[in-house]
Amino acid sequence: MKKITFGEKLIEIRKTKGFTQSDVANKCNISLRTIQRIESGTVTPRSYTVKVISESLGFDYFEAPANSKLNPSVKALQNIKLHLALFFKDLFNLKTNTFMKISILSLPFLITGLAFFLFHSKVTVQSAEHIPTIQKTNSDFEYLKNIRVVFTSELEFEDLFRIKEELKKEKISITYNKIIFDDDKRLKSIDCNVDWHNGASNSLIIEDLKSIKKGEQYGFYRNYDKNSKILCGSGLLPKIVVLDIGHGGIDSGSFSEELSEKQITLEIGNKVKDLLYSNPNMHIDISLTRTSDKYITLKNRIDYINSLQPHYIISLHLAESETENENGINLFNGSQTPFIKQSDSLLKQLKISFSNEFTINQVKSINSDILNKVNCPSALVEMGYLTNKKDIQLFKSEIGKSKIASAIFKTIKQLEK
Ligand SMILES: [Zn+2]
Repeated sequence: MKKITFGEKLIEIRKTKGFTQSDVANKCNISLRTIQRIESGTVTPRSYTVKVISESLGFDYFEAPANSKLNPSVKALQNIKLHLALFFKDLFNLKTNTFMKISILSLPFLITGLAFFLFHSKVTVQSAEHIPTIQKTNSDFEYLKNIRVVFTSELEFEDLFRIKEELKKEKISITYNKIIFDDDKRLKSIDCNVDWHNGASNSLIIEDLKSIKKGEQYGFYRNYDKNSKILCGSGLLPKIVVLDIGHGGIDSGSFSEELSEKQITLEIGNKVKDLLYSNPNMHIDISLTRTSDKYITLKNRIDYINSLQPHYIISLHLAESETENENGINLFNGSQTPFIKQSDSLLKQLKISFSNEFTINQVKSINSDILNKVNCPSALVEMGYLTNKKDIQLFKSEIGKSKIASAIFKTIKQLEK
């Protein structure tokens, strides 16, 4: 039975609906010439063209035919299956045609090896080329859940379809009003709406995705953190800065008298966030690795940070020393970070911001997993010594903690420029 071509199906549907070829071209935003060539059978349309036309005319070309009783091709397939079964049964009888059978039996191992190699090369190429489009946080961080959909000129029709499906799982629906692809089947421009199912919706039009500047991301975002400044939006996405809040839960870090490192780092982190919220003009969102007294493994911290694809991270800690006199701020970056240059600039800016009000004690590179393993520039600040009386007084007063938070915020503000 000959399968009806898409062109034939198009003619049939178009005529039933009383449309001209021009009507279809206008409806689907496809050139009249392409419609003519599809109908005449001179071109086989690409899968997204088929989808666009089918959807606009309200039919499903890929739908399985009704009453699909066992047709001749299925019967033929069943015969082949029977022959194959007999062939394989005989294959393991090595008494006849031994060499040929051993060669055939070893073939699957060769194919598996080759497939594994190809799969690996493919994955490497893909991760280098494709920027993830939906960024979601780990479920361990339910209270910090964050979704970002980034549109780039690298996307193909299948990617848009995948985005739609992934958002559906989050009960978010996206409608593509108009999508245009270039000659390489890559996304050129997009006009769409997103319904967040919380009563809010956003729309987005990007005329030319190739004109987006390096370092900028356009799309949608939804922040489920109730304290966040921006809960959802579209357009130029805010840059994400992560404050890694040192220690937590069973891991108190350093402590002295009634103070513990895990508590001071969280208080100062929250103060930085408050400063950001009081500056509505800054296009930055700050995420904290924890917002409560919770223990988070190093691996989960790193995974969470990497899932956010932040602009950079600052890890907050306090120091301790065997000598009571040692005090001031220590600034570190990772000795093995792949982002040496950017991490150096981050450290330099932190040094400038802190040096007005504080003594800078050490500035150096250290071998730290959090600094070396995150996928972005990084720095670690030890914001004073829990073994020094003067520093302890700072941590005990709200003004002292606010001064430290201001220095960090000043750094973030300077780096936005
Ligand atoms: Zn620490």
